[in-house]
Amino acid sequence: MKPGVSGKPPYDDQNVFARILRGEIPCRKVYEDEFALAFHDINPQAPQHVLVIPKGKYVSFADFSSTASDAEITGFVRAVGEVARQIGAEETGYRLLANMGPDSHQEVPHLHVHVFAGRPLGPMLV
Ligand code: ADP
Repeated sequence: MKPGVSGKPPYDDQNVFARILRGEIPCRKVYEDEFALAFHDINPQAPQHVLVIPKGKYVSFADFSSTASDAEITGFVRAVGEVARQIGAEETGYRLLANMGPDSHQEVPHLHVHVFAGRPLGPMLV
């Protein structure tokens, strides 16, 4: 544990992405490996909108970046890159976004990175 980190926040095992990871809810899978699962967002905001989630129980980026192992962090980042390649977005470009906590409107309390692609996305609006 790194200095200043008081521990993992509580993790809700019933959140929808935990249920997808356990196979209790179906998903349209794009990619899977030891560290990550990627699937199409159920409510796409771009022609390509894929979510990449770590397999470990991490609520947020803060939690993941401070408590995950180096192998998990490397594996997850590589998986995000692999997803962008698999959906053919490397040439045209893509946007990554991860919401964290209430001010960001994070709805699902399991870390996920949105991958948006398939059209010019315009400037980032916050
Ligand atoms: P927001 O909904 O404000 O973008 P998040 O960043 O937490 O908040 O994003 C959660 C994402 O998960 C949303 O884009 C939503 O459409 C998607 N989602 C929710 N349930 C499912 C599901 N069963 N399968 C695929 N995507 C889902």
